[in-house]
Amino acid sequence: MTDTVLEIDGLSVFYGSAQAINDLSLSLARGEMLALIGANGAGKSTLFKAICGMVPARDGDIRFKGDSLKGVRPARITERGIAMVPEGRRLFRSLSVEENLVLGGYVKRPGPWTLDKVYSIFPVLKERRHQPATSLSGGQQQMVAIGRALMSNPEVLLLDELSLGLAPVIIRDIYALLPKILGEGLSTILVEQDVTRALSVSNRVVCMLEGHVSLQGRSDAFTHAEISAAYFGT
Ligand code: ATP
Repeated sequence: MTDTVLEIDGLSVFYGSAQAINDLSLSLARGEMLALIGANGAGKSTLFKAICGMVPARDGDIRFKGDSLKGVRPARITERGIAMVPEGRRLFRSLSVEENLVLGGYVKRPGPWTLDKVYSIFPVLKERRHQPATSLSGGQQQMVAIGRALMSNPEVLLLDELSLGLAPVIIRDIYALLPKILGEGLSTILVEQDVTRALSVSNRVVCMLEGHVSLQGRSDAFTHAEISAAYFGT
């Protein structure tokens, strides 16, 4: 039997009268890397925000290890074991690298991730630990955002567009480090605009189109034409 860690069941989310998520269901198994793809505006970031309690569900439910997250505040959701690396990183601008990382650990969940462990994966962050986080390069800032999320010792990690605005060589370096991070038994949903990359690093793929799931299955199960049709709705 699959050990489901996150279950989204008939979820609908609105911004005012505009519907961003429409009757969406999907599940994430323990230790799985799920790629979430879809065009701009398909609802990927909104789904992440709903999982983290930052936007309310109008219908449906989100369950983490069997317990509903409905009405649970974002800070409590982090305490339960879900962390997000948000699109655009959103570091605390006035704080140093190390202060950003320490803040990520405020929930004090037990687990393998400590400052030393983050620094061992991203040594450049140790060298720059006293600098303002926002004085770092884009790639280094992304490392801070990933490290900050790991410091909460999550069981589920939501990665929203890691490559946004980064040079190809930096993107390659960050992706090369992912197995070291995910080797710690994390369950992960990865939003990535580069569909080829998303498919190559994941076990399973979900494509969203206008707020609903247009395709899902094993990452190696689909032709280019099938993915393209699900992506563009053609
Ligand atoms: P992108 O790749 O551009 O980030 P996405 O798939 O993450 O796209 P969302 O950002 O979740 O998509 O947007 C889904 C829909 O909700 C879009 O139609 C978008 O315009 C709308 N939307 C997103 N955020 C808001 C908001 N704060 N207020 C109103 N509408 C919003």
